[in-house]
Amino acid sequence: MPSRLGQNFLVNKEAIKKIVQKLKIAEKDLVVEIGPGKGALTFPLLKSKLRSLVAIEKDAELAEELIALKEKRLEVIIGDALVEMPAVASSLGGLKYKLIGNLPYYITGYFFRTLAALDNKPELAVFMIQKEVAQRMTAEKGKMNLLAAAMQIWAEIKIEMTLGARDFKPEPKVSSAVISLKPKVAAGINLAQYYTFIKILFKQPRKTILNNLRAAGYAKEIIEERMKEMKIKEEARAESLDLETIVKFSEKSFV
Ligand code: SAM
Repeated sequence: MPSRLGQNFLVNKEAIKKIVQKLKIAEKDLVVEIGPGKGALTFPLLKSKLRSLVAIEKDAELAEELIALKEKRLEVIIGDALVEMPAVASSLGGLKYKLIGNLPYYITGYFFRTLAALDNKPELAVFMIQKEVAQRMTAEKGKMNLLAAAMQIWAEIKIEMTLGARDFKPEPKVSSAVISLKPKVAAGINLAQYYTFIKILFKQPRKTILNNLRAAGYAKEIIEERMKEMKIKEEARAESLDLETIVKFSEKSFV
């Protein structure tokens, strides 16, 4: 029976190898792993040439087993990744690091919000997440959505591979995907304003942009004028916009 901590352990050895390869580990690398569990990714990571590995595991029993290894390059933190990740990132100061994890699916959304708020983001991250979430996150013009707009503003995201339920024990109810995530600098963008705007824009995805903005209290004439300036059709829905247009649109004044 799957536990409340999202403990579906990866057992497909070939997949494990490929996932670790996606992190492109070099000798100098500091790596942080979220939810090492029984060590499916931890052991191959320790076999690589990385300099050190910090693993954050909430299940104390599983964490103790890793601590008992007394592996010099491994530091295990017993705790919640949502709390410990910001602490680890700030303890690294300006040092570069890479991040990996077969994420427990119940924290995915919260974890990415935690990551987005970090000043010191990883130079590269590789995560296993729910396939459907990975597809929404990487969607483009035509299928744009709130998650994609919220994530793509700070990272380049790519689906690297997909996995089936049989690659895990116990088998999860959903399919999984491995994504790579490369943070980018959102130079000159007012992120607070951007996030507020996209929540309004995608509030009711089936509604038109005009109706969503009107529901937020903006005047119809001003919205229509701004849409005209942006060359957005009156009946368009937010899903039809590309990221660049959304960013420019978010910078407009609606007062
Ligand atoms: N990395 C292992 C693997 O690939 O087989 C385990 C992955 S399993 C899907 C998720 C792991 O995250 C479990 O070991 C679980 O105990 C741990 N976990 C669950 N919630 C967590 C949290 N909030 N912070 C840190 N670890 C957590």
